[in-house]
Amino acid sequence: MRVLVIGCGIIGAAIAYELSLVTGLKITVIDQQPPAQGATGAALGILMGVISKKVKGRAWQLRQASIQRYQTLIPELEALTGHQIPYNRNGIVKLIFPGEDLDSWEKLAKTRHSQGWHLEIWDDTQIRSYCPQLSIDKIIAAIYSPQDGQIEPTALTKTLVAAATLNGVNFKFGYAVEGVSSTFSDNLNLNTCQQIYTYEGKLEIDWLVIAAGVGSSQLITLLQAQAQKVIDETSATSTIFSPKQEQKNTGVFISNNPNKARQIPTVLPLTIKPVLGQALQLRLENPIGSRDFQPVINGNDIQIVPLGKGEYWVGATVEFPNNVGDVVAEPILLENMKQQAISFCPAIAEAKVIRTWSGKRPRPEGHSAPIITKLTGYSNVVVATGHYRNGVLLAPATAQEIREIIT
Ligand SMILES: Cc1cc2nc3c(=O)[nH]c(=O)nc-3n(C[C@H](O)[C@H](O)[C@H](O)COP(=O)(O)OP(=O)(O)OC[C@H]3O[C@@H](n4cnc5c(N)ncnc54)[C@H](O)[C@@H]3O)c2cc1C
Repeated sequence: MRVLVIGCGIIGAAIAYELSLVTGLKITVIDQQPPAQGATGAALGILMGVISKKVKGRAWQLRQASIQRYQTLIPELEALTGHQIPYNRNGIVKLIFPGEDLDSWEKLAKTRHSQGWHLEIWDDTQIRSYCPQLSIDKIIAAIYSPQDGQIEPTALTKTLVAAATLNGVNFKFGYAVEGVSSTFSDNLNLNTCQQIYTYEGKLEIDWLVIAAGVGSSQLITLLQAQAQKVIDETSATSTIFSPKQEQKNTGVFISNNPNKARQIPTVLPLTIKPVLGQALQLRLENPIGSRDFQPVINGNDIQIVPLGKGEYWVGATVEFPNNVGDVVAEPILLENMKQQAISFCPAIAEAKVIRTWSGKRPRPEGHSAPIITKLTGYSNVVVATGHYRNGVLLAPATAQEIREIIT
């Protein structure tokens, strides 16, 4: 069975690796860029599972499945590829400020205990002892989550690609999707996507997985336009190209009987909007905190991620698009974020900024994140996108869900 995955960020790469463990699949992954160039390349890689406030339902199940799978996935990938994936297992320390609801954290700690997980509530003596780099006059407590952590997203994605390649997956970088063709089955009342067109030619498929981050919207629109077009066609086969390509390919469409009325299932609108995040990398002459204990620090939704050798990532801003859907990084927001980090970790004021960057998180509009589902109107198209702020965390569980749908 031929499976095509579109997109090679953390989600597409994790899906490709998971599917490569299934015998009998011929998997191809295409991306218009090299791997991990989208949101994944900007991510901090913080795995906020146990410390998230989700305690039941799908949101918690996905988190739990991911935390569990990470335990086996990383050694499995390292053994297969010989790569080393930077993985901070010192946990996450979340600072609680005056006015925040400490009771709800105590309740969460009890719930997690009953679920077999562990959270600690630290008082100021413990904070001072474990994290001497923090200024505790503005902190009333801290929540420590030893089973969460942080992983380097680009290294992980590249290692997933290397492992999947060893397992027989074919990766094609520099390939953008330009058109799709499908057939309509009256029995199923559904389209089946048959071919994907790229400028290098067409790819025949049995299953299509859309894992294209913020690019997913455009692909979904193309497929939905194709599904709509089929309503007017009796002939089983039809092809549609993106507007740019359409002019070049006039005459490709087959439309035998435009009068025949058909009803296809109502197409679910799936829109993925970009939410920008800026971050920076700092270098300090002397590393901060305890030498043997370097957890991720989270204060007011700002993360300080230790990288070793006195270097840290600080991130990330959350910037929503304007009325026309564009989002441009605002330098002042990056500076404000740094100042906030200094307010609870004063040593950062002495640090040298060695890099700044931004990325666009894929956020689904009108749906809770992420979207992992069959595309309405199609028998063989699945969507794995809209992971918003937690794509690195949720990649393993997403890959497992896609595997279940396809096999
Ligand atoms: C600053 C920042 C910090 C973050 N921190 C964290 C964090 O700490 N923890 C966490 O879990 N998450 C974090 N995230 C969120 C995380 O980065 C995303 O949820 C995740 O990377 C989404 O992965 P993806 O594979 O869906 O998308 P992407 O990484 O964007 O990959 C999509 C790929 O699809 C390709 N593509 C798009 N359209 C097409 C097309 N038509 N044809 C071919 N290829 C196409 C693109 O080239 C791209 O490579 C952060 C995000 C940002 C921006």
